[in-house]
Amino acid sequence: MGTLTGCAQSVDPIERLGKKAAERVRPPAPAAGQAYRRWGLAAPLAPAPHHPSQPLSGSPARTALPPVVDHVPTRDKVVFLTYDDGAERDPRFVDMVRELRLPVSMFLTDSVVGPGYAHFARLRSVGANLQNHTLDHAALRGLPYAGQRAEICGQQEKLRSRFGLRPRFFRPPYGAYDPTTLRAAADCGITAIVLWRTSMGPADLVYAHGSHRLHAGDIIAVDPDEATGPTLRERTTRLLRRVQEQGLTVGRLEDYL
Ligand SMILES: [Zn+2]
Repeated sequence: MGTLTGCAQSVDPIERLGKKAAERVRPPAPAAGQAYRRWGLAAPLAPAPHHPSQPLSGSPARTALPPVVDHVPTRDKVVFLTYDDGAERDPRFVDMVRELRLPVSMFLTDSVVGPGYAHFARLRSVGANLQNHTLDHAALRGLPYAGQRAEICGQQEKLRSRFGLRPRFFRPPYGAYDPTTLRAAADCGITAIVLWRTSMGPADLVYAHGSHRLHAGDIIAVDPDEATGPTLRERTTRLLRRVQEQGLTVGRLEDYL
């Protein structure tokens, strides 16, 4: 999903990070219990229930196709926050994720992140999870197997070489996929295709289908920044208010899938 509008802006070369950025990663801890006010919330975010990771037992059969999910069946009062592409590299968003202990999942496209991987290393160091959103943001549906596999496995390899990661989740650009996508993703080590039931746009939540309220287990995509409109931080604050209004909190998707 998402557009590439931000991909050429806010270049964040590693050499410019220097010592200042390193310090930014570990500023003094904020006063306990006060961080929510700084980020525009009326109350602290409830801690997510303890939910031990449930990786698939054993290795899936070579032929098993990954499930396509836009919500997770659970009674825990949690929703999941996902972000796509990797165009926004606001250092203050790192502060927000750290101070609110937000377990966000970032689906990264190599050609969009470009020289900005250091930002995502910082996000990862404060608890964000990094997942696969292709090398070039290609619309995969209808492409031959080799092309789809190159987009998915290629980004697996980028994330492995940058971070030592082996992502388990894949989000196809624009949410567009076909049976070939599932086969290619499985062959690249992906165990779930992650879509979204709800997205957070510039103004408010937009529901892909189903009832127009949040439910436990919903996967929410926060739309990438547009040239105008509220920043990613502001959108996230608005979203968190909605989440709180409905008696929910934020869970870690990687613990549930
Ligand atoms: Zn996208």
